Amino acid sequence: MAEIETIEHDVLIIGAGGAGLRAAIEASAQGVSVGLVCKSLLGKAHTVMAEGGMAAALANVDERDSWKTHFADTMRGGYYLNNWRMAQLHAQQAPDRVRELEAWGAVFDRTAAGKIMQRNFGGHAHPRLAHVGDRTGLEMIRTLQDHGIHQGIDVHMECTMSSLLKDGDRVCGALAYTRELGKFKLFKAKAIVLATGGIGRAYKITSNSWEYTGDGQTLAYRSGADLIDMEFVQFHPTGMVWPPSVRGILVTEGVRGEGGVLKNKNDERFMFGDIPENYQSSTADNPEEGWRYVTKTDRQARRPPELLTRDHVARCILREVREGRGSPHGGAFLDIAWIKEKIPNAEAHIKKKLPSMYHQFKELAGIDITKEPMEVGPTTHYVMGGIRVDGETQMSTVPGLYAAGECAAGLHGANRLGGNSLSDLVVFGKLAGEHAAKFAKENGEASIDPDQVSTAQAAALGPLDSGRAQVDGGAYQIQYELQELMQDKVGIVRKEEEILSAIDEIEVLKGRAQTVRAPGNRQYNPGWHTALDLQNLLVVSEAVARAAVIRKESRGAHTRDDFPEKEDAFGNVNTVLRQGADGQMEAIQETIPELPDELQEIIDERR
Ligand SMILES: Cc1cc2nc3c(=O)[nH]c(=O)nc-3n(C[C@H](O)[C@H](O)[C@H](O)COP(=O)(O)OP(=O)(O)OC[C@H]3O[C@@H](n4cnc5c(N)ncnc54)[C@H](O)[C@@H]3O)c2cc1C
Repeated sequence: MAEIETIEHDVLIIGAGGAGLRAAIEASAQGVSVGLVCKSLLGKAHTVMAEGGMAAALANVDERDSWKTHFADTMRGGYYLNNWRMAQLHAQQAPDRVRELEAWGAVFDRTAAGKIMQRNFGGHAHPRLAHVGDRTGLEMIRTLQDHGIHQGIDVHMECTMSSLLKDGDRVCGALAYTRELGKFKLFKAKAIVLATGGIGRAYKITSNSWEYTGDGQTLAYRSGADLIDMEFVQFHPTGMVWPPSVRGILVTEGVRGEGGVLKNKNDERFMFGDIPENYQSSTADNPEEGWRYVTKTDRQARRPPELLTRDHVARCILREVREGRGSPHGGAFLDIAWIKEKIPNAEAHIKKKLPSMYHQFKELAGIDITKEPMEVGPTTHYVMGGIRVDGETQMSTVPGLYAAGECAAGLHGANRLGGNSLSDLVVFGKLAGEHAAKFAKENGEASIDPDQVSTAQAAALGPLDSGRAQVDGGAYQIQYELQELMQDKVGIVRKEEEILSAIDEIEVLKGRAQTVRAPGNRQYNPGWHTALDLQNLLVVSEAVARAAVIRKESRGAHTRDDFPEKEDAFGNVNTVLRQGADGQMEAIQETIPELPDELQEIIDERR
């Protein structure tokens, strides 16, 4: 322990995206000392990539919107597996969190009347997404950082947490290594908030960056916390498919929100062939946001079918490809250029509302989206499952350990609606920060066990052990094989024998990962970091597969070829994953607490 720098905070926040920053601001406002740690540079968190907007029932564009409708949409989108208390709090508090960001300096797009503009997104009954062109996440991060910087928060950048430490049942600290020099840092804390984001790097095709390796989920799981609903991985319908080097990069739903249509190689709008019977929406035409472009048939459907929920659109694209009607590189065509038939200055309009998309396609694919259609296909985007938290406080099943943002679970059920993540970050980031600070105040110091620190340190140094096997490609090769495996066998459409074979193969990869050597030393060694990240990816991949195999039905983002329908037996259960006494992962199902009557009524009124 002598060579380890020790740092002490009342509340330690791991992750500096929207959730971590908002938690840090709130904890600090409660008067406790706060440390904020991130694996990359401050400002580089995933949140910065968010494009389309944040959902909140401000009712600026359609005055019929309300928290109740937002709540009902979120529950319907999540196929009623959501933590209903979280869905309620989220819908009720999101408008205040948006207004708060505005008060802190966020410059949202405006309506003609000067209110915060809101755009349509899949599954939302009304235009609901507050946005800044297609760079909403950038504005959110900028605003939270600018505000947070004045709150006395200590920031530790390029510092990766590798283990949590416990004193009895409660957490008491964490061990980290610096990415640059590989030095260890020991953080003592009375409460910890995990805000580390998602798991997208477990898959080959993903919109997620290198940081999304399931670290928070794994840290929590290893310290005894429950994970839930890990089978629900969202495959966003529109990622880039060509050229291969950019495959998976997100094409925001904002393109469809602005009137973009999906077509197959026969120039057919194939989404019209698959509109669910119960699909209805009360959305009014909105002259400012593109609704005046819609055709007569669209008007009858009231909303274009391209804005059905993500799971549905992704499956429809996959069907077109499988049945030979896909685009040349295995996707579908997404056309926003067509709006020039309907409005003057369409080119300028597209560049104004979708500037990042315009540049992304121009620079990466040589396509001018104001003139030509884009080629798009499903990409791994978001994980609805994650760390089980209490709906009110965000505390996990381990005392003193909190979680918020994408690494936490509950709000989105079986499928997340677009825009509901950015609002999730600020609503539950705030609550996590508040309750973590409260816990720190109410609970005294915990003590760090030096043996735990030594064990954690030895585990982190394992891949550098010269006695280990040096295999071709090292940890990168194993990660590559894992990504292929998850994509092929636990991807968009799953079946029993493939998932079971994936679980067996993950077991083999786990064995290889535990003995793989990362050449070099602790300084500037990405091979070592990859070997450590890989351990986390294997845990979350196993969790996805084990959850997928016991949910013998198709619901939301989880599609089973062998069980193509929703089954009543699974309609009110969450999948819980935890470490058993023998160290093996256990997957069980638990019944969701019944909805209170007043929330059930809200849903029934809007069915
Ligand atoms: C391209 C793209 C566009 C999107 N657009 C939208 C949108 O328009 N609307 C919407 O609602 N959602 C959108 N999403 C989803 C949304 O952006 C994410 O779900 C959300 O930003 C996650 O925020 P977070 O705070 O949970 O995590 P992040 O913003 O990813 O932050 C995670 C933080 O944890 C740190 N970290 C991770 N592991 C460790 C570790 N071991 N030790 C220390 N630090 C660690 C990282 O360095 C980072 O600081 C989009 C996602 C993508 C990929």
